[in-house]
Amino acid sequence: MTSTSLEELRRSLAGTVVASEDAEYDAARRCFNALVDRRPAVIARCSGPGDVATALDFARSSDLEVAVRGGGHNPAGHCVVDDGLVIDLSLMRRVDVDGEARIARADGGATWLDFDSATQAFGLVTPGGVVGSTGVGGLTLGGGIGHLTAQHSLTCDNLVGAEVVTPDGTVIRASLDENAELLWALRGGGGNFGVATRLEFRLHPLERVVGGALAYSGEGVGEGFRRFRDLVATSPRELSCQAVLSVDEALAPILMVYPCYTGSDGNLEELRKLRSVPGLVDDGVRAQTFMDQQTLFDSPFGENRHYWKGHFVRELPDELFDELLQGIVALGRPPGGLLFESLHGAPKDTDGSTAVVGFRHAAFNVSAMATWEDAALDDQYIAWARDMAAAMEPWSFSGGGYVNYMQADEPIERVRAGFGAEAFERLRALKSRYDPDNVLHRNQNIPPA
Ligand SMILES: Cc1cc2nc3c(=O)[nH]c(=O)nc-3n(C[C@H](O)[C@H](O)[C@H](O)COP(=O)(O)OP(=O)(O)OC[C@H]3O[C@@H](n4cnc5c(N)ncnc54)[C@H](O)[C@@H]3O)c2cc1C
Repeated sequence: MTSTSLEELRRSLAGTVVASEDAEYDAARRCFNALVDRRPAVIARCSGPGDVATALDFARSSDLEVAVRGGGHNPAGHCVVDDGLVIDLSLMRRVDVDGEARIARADGGATWLDFDSATQAFGLVTPGGVVGSTGVGGLTLGGGIGHLTAQHSLTCDNLVGAEVVTPDGTVIRASLDENAELLWALRGGGGNFGVATRLEFRLHPLERVVGGALAYSGEGVGEGFRRFRDLVATSPRELSCQAVLSVDEALAPILMVYPCYTGSDGNLEELRKLRSVPGLVDDGVRAQTFMDQQTLFDSPFGENRHYWKGHFVRELPDELFDELLQGIVALGRPPGGLLFESLHGAPKDTDGSTAVVGFRHAAFNVSAMATWEDAALDDQYIAWARDMAAAMEPWSFSGGGYVNYMQADEPIERVRAGFGAEAFERLRALKSRYDPDNVLHRNQNIPPA
């Protein structure tokens, strides 16, 4: 890429171009995971589908590798590429809400904070991610598990349409009536088929929730965990629940449980059971706004190093929990945490043929999320996450992992297993149609057939 061609790109984009000589360069190349430190040749901050097509064309003619950036959260750091071109969607964050039709249309770079703020102004919601700065696009295209999964299913199940710019610069629409096969693939198949410049979601009424966090220590950790695990198996759809196992300042195990109840029972049996565990040390569960619920997992952007690995599991027997409980203290330092996301309720009731996502019939998504600051400890923390994932493997639902949480070193077998062999081949056929040269390969890649 020459300085003349860079000037040409600056002139032809309605958005802006950031290169290494620009003051914003370091901030623009940063991603959530501080383990990832890459230096792109150019960052094209696009303002719409036309800019995205121009950037793709520029990458092709300059022979630059392409990365697509939404919220910058993917732990693999796929949103940034050494010496290549980043299609950065961070200027495209508008969210339009049609309150009557209960539909929201989000630009491809919108974050969940953008989305929730817009939809909650109408008392509406779609089930999204639990951290406000995460990209709506990246999360949805990989599935989407959050505080309203039991109520309204996976995020991708609520995606009803999309505008996509394919690598050859064509703008196409996907909906149930138009390119329905592409919509099926966008519901979990990742950013493999094009750059989504608009995503359209079904909305649901929601004003307030009963949510927050419950903390257990000592004997309460095991009992709290068992109650969480057992009650989600039979709980009403109005109760979503996640849990995190980590350590306190004394490096002793601590369990946090995060219920999110949207029903009308003022004395819900499941919440009573969670609150009556001996060893409950903090009860922060209360009626609150959904926006408050969405701040529970807030975490700093670009400060910590992360390595995540896990499995969708068929069940969570005591034997596995005991092993994970030993593992959480094995490092002798705070390792980050183990996240348990229950997939009970709506994901199971949704017609699985409408989306490629292959994990809805698993019981839980269990993820070892190693989090640290010191680069000298990289190997230890990475080994810890791998050991924890290995412990889960005997109970794995399909051997596959969650594409949204995968690091870049996951083998293709884990991606294929996550979808199932048949769905994976169907995805490959679509990839051949929309991206035959695999331009969009910086993702959990689906190679063309
Ligand atoms: C702190 C944190 C919290 C999270 N919480 C949740 C959660 O609650 N639930 C959950 O399911 N996942 C969660 N995730 C995982 C998250 O959904 C994925 O990592 C997702 O890929 C992030 O999307 P992004 O746009 O922010 O990331 P980016 O790194 O910007 O993008 C990731 C990849 O997605 C693709 N992509 C993004 N936007 C587009 C687009 N518009 N068109 C085409 N391709 C696109 C590209 O391939 C890109 O490389 C979380 C991750 C973090 C770090």
